[in-house]
Amino acid sequence: MSTVIDPALPADRWIWEPPGASSGSGEFQFRSCYNLIRHTFPLSSDYEFVWCKGLARKIQLCVYKLLMGRLLTRDRLSSFGVPVPDPKCVLCCLEPESIRHIFFECTLA
Ligand SMILES: [Zn+2]
Repeated sequence: MSTVIDPALPADRWIWEPPGASSGSGEFQFRSCYNLIRHTFPLSSDYEFVWCKGLARKIQLCVYKLLMGRLLTRDRLSSFGVPVPDPKCVLCCLEPESIRHIFFECTLA
């Protein structure tokens, strides 16, 4: 059995068709991608205060990562397999560096 491919056919190409979108050109659009993500993962109202105006973006991201438990502390890095020579807090050198320790328990932070 053999398959003959007509060389006159157009080349394959990627087509962007997010669910629920009306059939368009098939070209990728950031707007439809953003809307798809926002629809699939709606923002939680629990964290809306983080994105208030007047707060620097880097502070917003830091607070958001803190609330989501995503700051790259030494305990998290070592859980990913990243070699961490000393897992203890860089300030007090007494306890393992974790989000809880840095923001709530460290006496020197
Ligand atoms: Zn400490």
